[in-house]
Amino acid sequence: MKAFVHQGSSSRIVFGVDSVQSIPEEIERLAAKRALVLCTANQREQAEAVAETISSRVAGIFDRVEMHVPIEVARQARQAAASLGADCALAIGGGSTIGLGKAIALESGLPIIAVPTTYAGSEVTPIFGLTEGGVKKTGRDPKVLPRTVIYDPRLTVTLPFSMTVTSAMNAIAHAAEGLYAYDGNPVMELMAEEGIRASAASLEPLAMNPADLGARSDALYGAWLCGTVLGSVAMGLHHKLCHTLGGTFNLPHAEVHTVILPHALAYNFDAAPAAMRRIARALGKADVPLAVYELARKHGAPTSLREIGMTADGLDRAADLAVSDQYPNPRPLERTALRALLQRAFDGISPQA
Ligand code: NAD
Repeated sequence: MKAFVHQGSSSRIVFGVDSVQSIPEEIERLAAKRALVLCTANQREQAEAVAETISSRVAGIFDRVEMHVPIEVARQARQAAASLGADCALAIGGGSTIGLGKAIALESGLPIIAVPTTYAGSEVTPIFGLTEGGVKKTGRDPKVLPRTVIYDPRLTVTLPFSMTVTSAMNAIAHAAEGLYAYDGNPVMELMAEEGIRASAASLEPLAMNPADLGARSDALYGAWLCGTVLGSVAMGLHHKLCHTLGGTFNLPHAEVHTVILPHALAYNFDAAPAAMRRIARALGKADVPLAVYELARKHGAPTSLREIGMTADGLDRAADLAVSDQYPNPRPLERTALRALLQRAFDGISPQA
């Protein structure tokens, strides 16, 4: 076995159906008293229902969360936390809501309790993003890592099935890239393989019954494992492409991940045989890129960039951006091959190495 370094996460994980009931005691455990509840306007009702059960510990509800954490919204939320005397933030929602919590923590050090309701995985990473003047900047800071994460599968039952599939694909992408990370380690490999298995296996039962709490638990368990991999090791071509496409062409986050993943895996297929063996085992299929493509297609998820809002005239620019700065990836970044990858993803045809 090759030498490695592993830094365990300091987050406390509370997992299980109805685990939101432990929020009061988790607030106390942080020596906090008054939580600012964060949510989107869409999820206000869900957040209010949780807030009602902990009413004496709620400083207020901030429901103006927006995708990609615009700096103006972050400033409003920081101001709300200060003026309401909040001594912790309770982020109930997906990556956007947890991202706003991180923006508050970045400045004030306020502890965050995250209650994720998608499978994006932000709750277990020290990665933050802030958008200023239309440009999204990301960074890493241990201060933004939620101190406590409460995974309650009951809160994910309302996630529409279409978003369930793309969000689970987003989770699978973190683990898949973690398997060929230059700074990977055996613990992350175990988590990644199991995360892919649990995430993928949850989709079939959820297609039949989106309220299946057993399958919702599996999906959330997978999200935790995959998110932990994202927070611990370096991502490669897939995440770089998705970041470029999402940021430059304003494409929806989980959908971009869903469309690009099979093609990024095909690109890296020959260069990362050990990673592909683990993904194959997790999915029970030898042709990994095709299996990922079929998993999305079978469950009605988008498979082409065209159908999620990309236009053909952006493909050259996307290829230029993808090779504009070098980053670790099992296969070197070659513009011609990447342009071909983007064309296949644009057209939605099956992946090819
Ligand atoms: P999201 O948080 O933007 O949510 C999308 C929509 O789904 C919102 O309207 C939300 O209210 C709704 N929603 C969420 N959960 C729901 C539920 N259970 N029931 C009904 N509606 C629900 O989506 P996301 O994919 O979770 O997050 C995407 C954002 O998170 C992107 O900005 C991405 O860059 C960021 N992200 C960051 C990290 C990180 O480590 N920093 C990791 C992953 C994603």
